Amino acid sequence: MSAKQMKQPTQPPAERSGVKLQVEGARVSYQARTGTVLAVDGIDLDVADGEFVAIVGPSGSGKSTFLMALDGLVPLAGGRISVGARQIDGPGPDRAVVFQDASLLPWRSVVDNVAYGLELAGRPKKERLRTAAELLVLTGLKGFEDFYPDQLSGGMKQRVNIARALAADPEILLLDEPFSGLDAQTRESMQAELLKIWDARKKTAVFVTHQIDEAVYLADRVIAFSARPATVVAQWRIPFDRPRPLELKHSREHRDLEEEIWEVVRAQKAPDEASGS
Ligand code: ADP
Ligand code: MG
Repeated sequence: MSAKQMKQPTQPPAERSGVKLQVEGARVSYQARTGTVLAVDGIDLDVADGEFVAIVGPSGSGKSTFLMALDGLVPLAGGRISVGARQIDGPGPDRAVVFQDASLLPWRSVVDNVAYGLELAGRPKKERLRTAAELLVLTGLKGFEDFYPDQLSGGMKQRVNIARALAADPEILLLDEPFSGLDAQTRESMQAELLKIWDARKKTAVFVTHQIDEAVYLADRVIAFSARPATVVAQWRIPFDRPRPLELKHSREHRDLEEEIWEVVRAQKAPDEASGS
């Protein structure tokens, strides 16, 4: 793509509806042996109710850290995060996370893994089974109820993970590179599956990935992080209609947008890299 065709990163969009997730000046630091490591540096982000936002950025930029902060798993060194009107101060049932490594309980069957959170929440058995059964249909796991995690492929495990995250009916789904351990073909089919599930449940979603094609295919909006400490360097509204067939990924428009975002991500350098050779 020529420099002339490069468009300026678009500005934040007008919100479609109310703001579901509000991040104001979020900072996160770690105490390392060598001193304090600033991982996230003053991020502002509003995510609308039902919006699908993807975050891309270089490896080590602070994407996972930011997502963990959204879940309340790491404390903020500054700023604040609110879900609806509530400021969060730890994990809660309003948010659920899906990680890259399907953290399933190996001694529990598929259906019992999906229902596990409901069990912890003290929901009655009838309700647990009904909810789990619905989610198994939604995530394409019908017929696998009694399988154990070690009998499942990577893609199937991630389906269980997604079903499990949805079980408590969270308002916000947080996903940290959930498909990056999968082969290319399975990853594509899981991307399409995720869109179907998201569309059926109308959840607000924040999806972290270093794969730009995945971000463009899935999201309403793609946010690019700088190198660590993470700040927002650019964002793009993704204009494609939904539902999005997988063939969309091979279209000229999709590829051009990937290229444009990739140019921005590739230019991100850590401060010590930028000045050196
Ligand atoms: P990404 O997900 O974008 O690859 P991370 O959020 O995992 O990046 O990490 C951001 C930075 O924070 C990295 O430099 C990483 O080494 C550092 N980091 C992550 N976790 C810890 C930790 N528990 N203690 C100290 N530093 C950490
Ligand atoms: Mg990460």
